[in-house]
Amino acid sequence: MILGVIADDFTGATDVAGMLVGAGMRTVQVIGVPQGPMPEADAVVIALKSRTCPPAEAVAQSLDALRALQAAGARQIYFKYCSTFDSTPQGNIGPVADALMDALGADIAIACPAFPDNGRTVFRGHLFVGDLLLSDSGMRDHPLTPMTDANLVRVLQPQTRRRVGLLAQPVVSRGPEAVRERLDALRAEGAALAVADAVANADLLTLAEACADLPLITAGSGVALGLPPAYARRGWLTPDAGSAQLTPVAGPAAVIAGSCSQATQGQVANWIAAGHTALQLDPLTLASNPQHLPALRTQALAALSQGPVLVYATAEATRVKSVQDQLGTAAAGALVEHALADLAQALVQAGVRRLVVAGGETSGAVTQALGLSQLRIGAPICPGVPWTQGVWQGAPLWLALKSGNFGGPDFFAQALRLAGVAL
Ligand code: ADP
Repeated sequence: MILGVIADDFTGATDVAGMLVGAGMRTVQVIGVPQGPMPEADAVVIALKSRTCPPAEAVAQSLDALRALQAAGARQIYFKYCSTFDSTPQGNIGPVADALMDALGADIAIACPAFPDNGRTVFRGHLFVGDLLLSDSGMRDHPLTPMTDANLVRVLQPQTRRRVGLLAQPVVSRGPEAVRERLDALRAEGAALAVADAVANADLLTLAEACADLPLITAGSGVALGLPPAYARRGWLTPDAGSAQLTPVAGPAAVIAGSCSQATQGQVANWIAAGHTALQLDPLTLASNPQHLPALRTQALAALSQGPVLVYATAEATRVKSVQDQLGTAAAGALVEHALADLAQALVQAGVRRLVVAGGETSGAVTQALGLSQLRIGAPICPGVPWTQGVWQGAPLWLALKSGNFGGPDFFAQALRLAGVAL
């Protein structure tokens, strides 16, 4: 194994795995830290569900993953977080980065969530989502990790014991040697985490080349774009063009949406406007009426014979806020995740073999409920979201795990069409 990736959520794991596969690296995603042997691959991505749990738990899970990857011989470790730097002043990006750096004896690491193909760029330490500062984007209303400051140096500093510095774009644009020099200078100044600018893929390639020999990279999926070529230049990797093949499947299809991000809101609205079947899960009814979930389950299964069915909890920010005020933020999240995971299980039990899931936490809950332990990574549906293939009760099951913010308005239909569903 060349690269061991520790991803803080499931959709993030598929995103980075897709990036590596796309650049010719044989990559397997495992769900949680494997108890048995590691799969044979150039890169193994361990998908955790550590983005929003208490920091100590995130650290413990990440160190567990690190030990497993080190035991399997990983030359480099990559801590993958969200391209919108989802975190709170308590963590979990800073605490996990600290713990991994301690364990690896790393004295410098970059922090770079940039993913220009998806509109996430970092300039002078400030994260942009399209033309908006992070703090002006829909992320300011995220149910679990509202992002109200776009200055990543300021966001990261309270989360870490280390000093945070800036590796700004004018340096990055001068190439890998300039980046290495700046990292040396930051180290000499006492900084150990460098928020790194990247406004285009060329910057990601530069950062990857400059950091390929460091023990740790902390980043969104973007920097991974440059690692396979950097490893190939070092003679560690022979890129494999057929690394994205999946086994064809037939059978019904479904979509589960638990993300409340603006992109997902648009995708749900688009699906409904196109006249496809859509069933709404209402958290308050779910909390008060034990019949809500069984009734939805029955409706969803009955609708399957007519075509793909969408079950969604997706709601706009004011409704989410009102639900959270009444049920508590964590409790509302867990309640909805469990219900959606239960519905996904029922749908797969009923024969669904192509399943789109919107939402990072939601994808975590669904894959856990389905008991999937490993995913092969297939072709991309859109930047950041590949089709993947798991094995459910001995049969191949296709899953598209979409981070809330990703995908165009037609994403659900686009994904299903790519998987051979007639729509
Ligand atoms: P994203 O990828 O957009 O961040 P996630 O699935 O990671 O999506 O997070 C969304 C969270 O919001 C989940 O915990 C989900 O259960 C919760 N949620 C979904 N719908 C609602 C709702 N209507 N009210 C309150 N919470 C909700």
